[in-house]
Amino acid sequence: MHEERTQHSEDSNGPTGPEDLRGSVATFDREEGATAIATLSTKNHEVFESRVRDRSHVCLACGQASVHRFLYRKNGCDILRCEQCGLGRAETMGFDPESYYTSDYFSGERPDGYADYIGTENILRREFAGTVEFIRKFRASGRLLDVGCAYGFFLHEAKRFFDVSGIELAEDAAEHCRRSGLNVFTGQADETLLGRLGTTDVIVLLDVIEHLPSPRDTIALLVNRLDPGGIIVITTGDFGSLYSRVAGAHWRLMTPPQHLWFFSQASMQAMATSLGLEVEHLDHPWKVVPLSLISFQLTRMSGLRPKRIAISNRLGLPVNLFDAMRVVLRKPSR
Ligand SMILES: [Zn+2]
Repeated sequence: MHEERTQHSEDSNGPTGPEDLRGSVATFDREEGATAIATLSTKNHEVFESRVRDRSHVCLACGQASVHRFLYRKNGCDILRCEQCGLGRAETMGFDPESYYTSDYFSGERPDGYADYIGTENILRREFAGTVEFIRKFRASGRLLDVGCAYGFFLHEAKRFFDVSGIELAEDAAEHCRRSGLNVFTGQADETLLGRLGTTDVIVLLDVIEHLPSPRDTIALLVNRLDPGGIIVITTGDFGSLYSRVAGAHWRLMTPPQHLWFFSQASMQAMATSLGLEVEHLDHPWKVVPLSLISFQLTRMSGLRPKRIAISNRLGLPVNLFDAMRVVLRKPSR
């Protein structure tokens, strides 16, 4: 955990702040906080409060100890953005991934989960077949590890060309994989589990990095499992995209505490460079999305509690909101 502290340096207040407020902010500290707030006018109070919520963190993407700007609250989490590279972070209280990613998550029992993951296998597998084709442009064959492989749909497509294995936190999903003959380990991608695996040529994290408690540490461990010349393929949202910036707290991927990190192109580049990886490719691909997931997400955005939808599981639509990116990172061959 990084140390948090209230941000009260003069620089962090920016050039737009009211002059009278600056003096108060500069002298603010934990002991005098209550008194300082009490003396502020109501008009200034909101501005003041949002600034106090800015804080300093060591950014896990760019590695800088930088001001993290408070943007808004969503689902009880503060959403902050690194002023250096644009990485977004959700600050959660006591979120436990192990108790969260259960079968409920994949079966429509959670408003922020999947509508019906297994029911949409056909569409997902067609989509994943395209991803395999894409990956083969960078690495045609070899060993492949899927981190967060869910029910193994991607692995089944990939095993036509690669020697595959996977890691999955949700026990039910991992068990489903093993029953279908896949080599899948249950647990977090930590040192213990990764230590049991050999080295590999391709590592994929498909819509997974934003869920990890500590993505930089995980990627660093994965780099150690990667042979020189090997690649890491990541798909995740693009926090710098037009849609994300316009929609703010209402962005379809702004779903803490499920999503904890919001990468921009710059933050992805910064993290890669600091881990000795080269960004070989970055794009915003089109995706065939199950109609059921589209209506599930639209219902959720309209504020209603989404219900499980039996129809439209077999229908998919090509969608591109240009707010999700696909990145290929290469470990240099020595
Ligand atoms: Zn940063």
